[in-house]
Amino acid sequence: MKTEALYHRMPISAQHAVCSLVGWRIQHTRFGSGFTQQLLAAEQRQRWSSDQMLVFRDRRLQNFVRHAAATVPYYRELFREHGVNPERIRTLDDMRVFPVLTKSVVQERQQHFFSSAIKPRDWRMTHTSGTTGGGLRFPTTLAAMQEQWAVWWRFRRRLGISLRTWCGYFGGRSVVPIAQTKAPYWRYNWPGRQILFSGYHLAPDTLGQYVEELNRSQPAWLHGYPSILSLLAEHLLSTGQSLKYQPKFITTGSENLQARQSAAMERAFGVRPANNYGLTEAAANVSECTHGRLHVDEDFAAVEFLPNNGGGWRVVGTNFTNPAFPLLRYDVGDVVELDERSCDCGLPGRTISAIDGRSEDYVVLRNGARIGRMDHVFKDMTAVREAQIFQNRPGVLMVRVVKNPGFSELDERHLRQEFFQRLGDQADVQFDYVPKIARTQQGKLRFVVSGLRDTPEMANSVPPAAPSDVTADADWESRELTAAIA
Ligand SMILES: [Zn+2]
Repeated sequence: MKTEALYHRMPISAQHAVCSLVGWRIQHTRFGSGFTQQLLAAEQRQRWSSDQMLVFRDRRLQNFVRHAAATVPYYRELFREHGVNPERIRTLDDMRVFPVLTKSVVQERQQHFFSSAIKPRDWRMTHTSGTTGGGLRFPTTLAAMQEQWAVWWRFRRRLGISLRTWCGYFGGRSVVPIAQTKAPYWRYNWPGRQILFSGYHLAPDTLGQYVEELNRSQPAWLHGYPSILSLLAEHLLSTGQSLKYQPKFITTGSENLQARQSAAMERAFGVRPANNYGLTEAAANVSECTHGRLHVDEDFAAVEFLPNNGGGWRVVGTNFTNPAFPLLRYDVGDVVELDERSCDCGLPGRTISAIDGRSEDYVVLRNGARIGRMDHVFKDMTAVREAQIFQNRPGVLMVRVVKNPGFSELDERHLRQEFFQRLGDQADVQFDYVPKIARTQQGKLRFVVSGLRDTPEMANSVPPAAPSDVTADADWESRELTAAIA
C-alpha cells in the first residue's frame, strides 16, 4: 500500500514510466517464450475435431486426477474417504463419484490444496477478489499462467486482434490517482501497447477529454469492464457525440456482459462487443467465435454443467492446467444456458447460448421462486444509463436507476411492463432514481444486490457459491505496480 501511495504522489510522466516498466515486465514473463509455444499449440487444437478435442481433454483430466491424488493432501483424504481409485477416473463422466467443491471449502482448507510436487519457489501467487464472499489467494505456475493467456489470445486473434494491436483499456483498477481533477485520465504502457483509461474519472464533464484522447490515439481495440465501456457509450449517445474513428474490436471481461450494455456499445461504437468468459481459478473458459456463438474451450479445463435450482446450468470445472493448486469439480458460481445447436464455424467443443452471470444474480418472488436473467428487462432501454436491483424482502424489488437525459414517465411505465411480464403479480417493483450506483471495492458493478441470501427462508434452497473473479483481461493489479516500484 505504501508503494501505491508513492506511485500516486509521482509526477504524471513518472507514472507513465512506471506503467511502461510494469508492462515491460509482463511482456517478458506472462508473454515470454513459453507463451508463444502455448499459443501456437492452442491454435492448432482449434482445428481439431470435437472427438479429438475430448480425447485430449480426458487424457489431461486422467493425469491431473492422478497428480492430485498423489500430491495434494485434500484429495488424498477425499479419495480414501470415497474409496476411489484414481486410475479408474478416465472421462469427465467418471468425475461424478466426487462431490462438487465449493469455494468456501477451498477458503477454509486452502493449504490442503497445495500440491507437494510444485516447489514454493515456482509458485506465482494469484488471487480472486470475490464480491460477497471472501477472496481467494492461491499459487499457480508460470506455464499455467501462460497457457491461460494463450487461450485468451487465441480468442482475440480469431477476431483479428494481434499482439501488436493498440488497446484502449477501461478496467477497474485505476492507475490515475483518484484526487486528480485534470486530464490526462489515462496512462501509457508502451511495451504492452495499452492506453490505461481510468474508469473512476469518467463523468459527464470529463467525457470530452476521453473522446479527445481516443480520437488522437485511435486504438483499434477497446477492452475492459462492460460497466465502464457501456458508461462511455451511454455518455456518447446521450450527448450526441461520436468518435472520429471507428474501433475495429471491442472485447469485455471481468463482469458478465449484459444485453443492454452490449446494445449501447454497438450503437455508440458501431462494433458489437465479443464475449470471453474466464476466471482466475482456470476451472472453465468460454470464448465467442466469429459466428457470434459461445464455445467451451474444452482443451483448457474439464467443464461440467449441472442443473441449477432456479433455471439454467451451473458451471463446475476442473482446472487441469494448474498443477500447483488442483480444483476438482469446482463450483465456479456462474449460470449459463446450454445450446443444443451445432455451430458452422468449425471450432470443436460444446456451445452455450448465454452466460447468465453470477448464480446469485437472481431475485426472489413472493412465492419463493427465484428468477435470473433480469438484465434483459433493460435491454432496449436507451433512457437508462445504469441499473441495479436491490432486494431485502421476497417479492419486493427496489430498482436503482441512473437516468439518461430524456428519461420520462413513459420509460418507467415501460420498465414496469417488462418486470410484470417476467414476474407477474409476484413482486412489487419500486424505482429509486439515483445520480450514480456504487461499485464494489474492485470497481465492479453488481447487478443484483440481495440481503436475502443468508435468511432462513433461503435455507432450503441450494446456497449460491461465493463468486469467483471473472477476469479474462489484463488486470492492472496494484500489486504489480507495487512489485515494479519496490
Ligand atoms: Zn462457432
